[in-house]
Amino acid sequence: MTAFDDLVAANREYASTFSGGEFDGVARAGAAIVTCMDSRIDPLRMLGLHYGDAKIFRNPGGRVSPDALEALVLGVHLLGVTRVLVIPHTRCAMTQSTEAELRERIAASAGVDASWQPFHVIADQLAALEEDVRKVRSHPLIPESVAVGGFLYDVDTGLVERRV
Ligand SMILES: [Zn+2]
Repeated sequence: MTAFDDLVAANREYASTFSGGEFDGVARAGAAIVTCMDSRIDPLRMLGLHYGDAKIFRNPGGRVSPDALEALVLGVHLLGVTRVLVIPHTRCAMTQSTEAELRERIAASAGVDASWQPFHVIADQLAALEEDVRKVRSHPLIPESVAVGGFLYDVDTGLVERRV
């Protein structure tokens, strides 16, 4: 018995009817989504997308980090991405604490010092979204022909609203 048995069993079920093998890695809907790791976000379904449609990059807060930009550059030039959506969400944990508070909580949970661990908390979510959209738009390897939008996902209503 391992911690993964239920998941591997579910995968066998999934693979028994799997038919996606003929797809390549291109984003068929031309979409790349940068969003938060929050388990309340279902990035494909909330936009009416399906298997194979989108490149998805997730991290705490849904920030356009250097890794996210790397993914977007690859997506735009090699994987069919023509539109980029940056989608943070309401009631995000990264907007609700300071870095010091998060370090304190993690240290209490881990039982060891956590003061060295960075946590990229977000003081002003709209300002962060504007900055993130600007980072994508101004990237020298992302052409102006790529549409870039900043959105907010409401975890209570399921609505995605454009903000930037
Ligand atoms: Zn979040």
